[in-house]
Amino acid sequence: MNNAAGVLLCWSCKKALDPQDRYCRFCGMGQGEHVAWYYRPWGIALATLFGLGPFGLILVWRSPKLGTKARWAWTAAVVLAGAFILHGCYTTWLMIRSLMPDLTQLGQLPY
Ligand SMILES: [Zn+2]
Repeated sequence: MNNAAGVLLCWSCKKALDPQDRYCRFCGMGQGEHVAWYYRPWGIALATLFGLGPFGLILVWRSPKLGTKARWAWTAAVVLAGAFILHGCYTTWLMIRSLMPDLTQLGQLPY
């Protein structure tokens, strides 16, 4: 990332870098090929699916590896996947509840 004067800037904290810096000396973020795995597209997908869920959107919007269109596509994908998973949990809960005995009748047993 460069500013108007052509000075190389950290994508994360926007402070000036030397051209040979692989990691920002202010915030420690990797630059170029050294960007952390969870800011790369497959890393965002893994972190979102196996832990972050909707918080994966933070990675999507901070990642220096995604352009504007890709960000929106990823945002839509994360939201759709989240809705799909929520719906799946809800229908599973309904099924489990329909299999359980009616707890309101337990107090009426004859002993
Ligand atoms: Zn930085």
